[in-house]
Amino acid sequence: MKRVIAVLCLLALAPPALAGAMAADTLRLRDTVDRLASPAMAGRRCGSPGGDAARRYLESGLRDLGLTPAGTVGFAQAFTVEGERLAAAAAVLVGADGDSLTLTIQARAPLRRSAVTRLRLWPNGAPPPACGPGEALVARGPSGREGFQPTLLRDRAAAAGAAALILAPHPADTAGVYARYVHRLSGRDLRLHRLPGDAPETPLLWAAAGGGSRLFSADSLRAGPWRLDLPAGEPFRLAGVNLVADSPGGTAADGLLLVAHYDHLGAGPGGVLPGADDNASGVATLLEFARLAADAPGWRLLLTDGEELGLLGARAYLREYGPPARVLNVDSVGRATVDSPRRIREPGAADPRLMMLWSAENAGGDAVRLRELLAARDFQVREARGPMFARGGDHAPFAEAGVPGLFVCGGFHADYETPRDLPERILFARLSDLAAALRDFAAAPCR
Ligand SMILES: [Zn+2]
Repeated sequence: MKRVIAVLCLLALAPPALAGAMAADTLRLRDTVDRLASPAMAGRRCGSPGGDAARRYLESGLRDLGLTPAGTVGFAQAFTVEGERLAAAAAVLVGADGDSLTLTIQARAPLRRSAVTRLRLWPNGAPPPACGPGEALVARGPSGREGFQPTLLRDRAAAAGAAALILAPHPADTAGVYARYVHRLSGRDLRLHRLPGDAPETPLLWAAAGGGSRLFSADSLRAGPWRLDLPAGEPFRLAGVNLVADSPGGTAADGLLLVAHYDHLGAGPGGVLPGADDNASGVATLLEFARLAADAPGWRLLLTDGEELGLLGARAYLREYGPPARVLNVDSVGRATVDSPRRIREPGAADPRLMMLWSAENAGGDAVRLRELLAARDFQVREARGPMFARGGDHAPFAEAGVPGLFVCGGFHADYETPRDLPERILFARLSDLAAALRDFAAAPCR
């Protein structure tokens, strides 16, 4: 209560200019998110005209902030990625009797090609059965409220020696969770197939709702041999542009690197994906941070391109500049969120002050310090765990290179990667408070 009275006194004494300044910061954040999520930027896909428009807008923003250009040409670090992409987004499973099933491929790395001659059932909740050569596992999707992490299932199947993991819908999935996954995947171009340094992936394949149940009739599973036809690869070349800017005070090549990706996915089956939370929210937060932290030297901003296509910009930065001393990634921080995919479907689970914090094992002191600073701004900080947090973001290539890494993320919400990820759903007070906490972090980091 004492604190409330003190705050009330401060508010009563505050000159009108203070209220004006607070509104101005919300307006700036809102303007940045509005612009990045606008129809003119068409989902900011790497290499697209909308992506270029976003980059030009951000370049002028960095200039207006008085930051020091640290790209290879001005603020820009252009990069190209050459590799291979799948000629089609579908694979075909062919049975001995000529019966066939089309499967949607989910892959961001080259697919490990091995002959499939036998299918084995992997019951939900059980450990995966050990597989011999040519054996693929067939598993069902979620039945209801349990968590569902398909790429984690794929990793477990691969560890059990499976040649592929084939997913099919669960009959009890009346909410259509599985069908929504397949719909989202099939509308996205996930055919990016071979990038420098990628290790081959065990194929993760999705059966459509109708066909999948056939895999679960005992006859069908026994009957063999099966053949899995994976599409061939074709060469592709992709051009992206990162933006690199140092604090006004000078260079920060070996200091704290703050990262946010500005690209998104372009369009999906339901139309343009505006990506207001993912990740216009993080970009706007870092621009506001730059304004607040002008007198804290030794930091660098990296606004990456091509994150959505496989962390391309972060990898290109590492190749060109080498590892920084420390890295902090900010992605999707503007929503009332829930702390696990399972809770997305629970009404009332959204928490407007929840913030997830992932930290690399060697980032201990920094993690403690950032946790304290976020808590001081009334965030409820939750430890982010699991492969989705550890690998699913621009901090991952840095952490793999041994850089002490931190990742701040709002968590999950049902509008993630949909046309409903809109500016009007962003809680701008979160961004403003996060920018202030990051300023305190950059001004007095742990070590
Ligand atoms: Zn993102």
